[in-house]
Amino acid sequence: MTKQHRQTNVSRRNLLKLSAGAISAGVLTAGLGSNLVAPEKASAQDKKDITPDDALKALLDGNDRFVKAKKRNPNQSQSRLREVAKGQNPFASILGCADSRVPSEIVFDQGLGDLFVCRVAGNIATKEETGSLEFGSLVLGSKLILVLGHERCGAVDATIKGASVPGEIGSLLEAIKPGVERSQGQAGDKLENACKANILVQIEKLKSSPVLSELIKADKLKIVGGYYDLDTGKVSLVS
Ligand SMILES: [Zn+2]
Repeated sequence: MTKQHRQTNVSRRNLLKLSAGAISAGVLTAGLGSNLVAPEKASAQDKKDITPDDALKALLDGNDRFVKAKKRNPNQSQSRLREVAKGQNPFASILGCADSRVPSEIVFDQGLGDLFVCRVAGNIATKEETGSLEFGSLVLGSKLILVLGHERCGAVDATIKGASVPGEIGSLLEAIKPGVERSQGQAGDKLENACKANILVQIEKLKSSPVLSELIKADKLKIVGGYYDLDTGKVSLVS
């Protein structure tokens, strides 16, 4: 570990001790380098120095490989396992649906230590998911949050239909309702419109986090939306 990396880790530990109110752009930028490193060439340690746009490109490039059946399955070796056992610097975070057909590391062709992933039915930004994503970016240095919705999402469909559901399932539908309401009256496929509107609503919820908005202001983070096509495996940006 280099001296610079040690300092960065110390800075991140100190950040953990700060209350949200004490966080300023100046504090957030302390110790975080801005060297531009191409994601393809970056080592695990270097990945924390890429820009939000680099992180987005790395994700979309990985998805392109997946769609074209040209996956490289990077960072899945035993040596990578040992490398990331010492610490993690995921370059991007995903807020995705729990749907078994949309596993983040596979559809973006990434490996161990690359992605900080929160998955919950309907890809909703609950307090717990938001807190996890705050941790992922503020402490672990993830430069991008991609809210990933998908085609024919069952949770969104159940919300549209006003389904009567047992247990805690209703809490998911409550969180998806604003997206469904926003999409009403739009031309085209009702379910697709609602899935895409839900992505935008969840992005807005994340951006209302003071921790995340400070990181965005300091150019240390971007939050974008993606829509996954179940038939082709392609992720299209929706924001
Ligand atoms: Zn879903």
